[in-house]
Amino acid sequence: MKNIYGLTLDEIEEYFVNNGSKKFHALQLFEWLYVKRVESFDEMSNLSNDIRTKLSNDFSIDRLKIVDVQEDVDVCKYLFELFDHEHIEAVLMKHDYGNSICVSSQVGCNMGCRFCESGRRKKVRNLETYEIVLQILMIEKMLGERISHVVVMGIGEPFDNYDNLINFFKIINHPKGLAIGARHITVSTCGIVPKIIEFSKLPLQINLAVSLHAPNNDIRDKIMPINKVYPIEKVIDALKVYLNNTNRRLTFEYIMLKDVNDSIDCAIELANLVKGLNCYINLIPYNETNNIDFKRTNTIQIMRFYDILKKNSVNVTIRREFGSKISAACGQLRSKKEEL
Ligand code: SAH
Repeated sequence: MKNIYGLTLDEIEEYFVNNGSKKFHALQLFEWLYVKRVESFDEMSNLSNDIRTKLSNDFSIDRLKIVDVQEDVDVCKYLFELFDHEHIEAVLMKHDYGNSICVSSQVGCNMGCRFCESGRRKKVRNLETYEIVLQILMIEKMLGERISHVVVMGIGEPFDNYDNLINFFKIINHPKGLAIGARHITVSTCGIVPKIIEFSKLPLQINLAVSLHAPNNDIRDKIMPINKVYPIEKVIDALKVYLNNTNRRLTFEYIMLKDVNDSIDCAIELANLVKGLNCYINLIPYNETNNIDFKRTNTIQIMRFYDILKKNSVNVTIRREFGSKISAACGQLRSKKEEL
């Protein structure tokens, strides 16, 4: 049985029409789910008994279980149990501009980036749309506050779960859904070229971030196996199409790994690589984990790298660090409960 939180408004309309009912019931249902936020079909009082009975025969309205919550200053990590007893994590960050949530898109991940804890477990399966939507809905409820920003930067490669991801965007972005503005939503990819092209045609103004992490193929090949399939020049070409189609600015994520990609030469090469692209580079201090050997670049070297980019007219920021104490930072999320 499908879970109702996985259906877009269009899909619900189609359901009603196919069942000889009126299309406008879809919007009523959507409002019950995402505006009034009832948790059973029975409470949807402007839908007839017949419709409610049919809905409960056709769909589940069950929510996931939150089985653990870990808090630190301005950040909170939630462990969800899925119906097949798999686990995923989502992280809430409190910024001065609002609450932002980092959601997962898969159980495990197949990209195998050498530095990333989340990818140490192979992909078990894609998350269904409702499993991504419910991460937000349930955290909002627990928090009692609105979530204004969403990043798809948790466990998984979102572009390896493209269709469910796009339906998720449609649901959270819809004014009668969670009403989160597209410009407040960011998806991050390790660089799946065909999906970048597809994404560039999407009529939603969602932000794109690309995990670059190296200025050339030699280094990127060593740390990101996906680079063997889609090398840097192919990624850059796809991003030119994206920039051309969308007129938006994109973000490159660049983790600073000691003695791997943090030299002065790397900074110069990086500046040349992105020259002329409407982008900015987000330098990410690496979060070390016990299981992986990479080390973090020290702050002075990060500043040096930053300065070189600046001098070369590259827009650059250093990512504010969140949640490393509770292993909630980038690359530290896991999909296995026992390992926590
Ligand atoms: N698979 C997607 C979405 C994950 S986003 C992607 O690769 O973009 C998570 C971001 O955190 C990615 O940029 C990832 O490369 C980065 N990351 C992974 N491990 C990290 C670590 N230990 N410290 C800092 N950033 C890390």
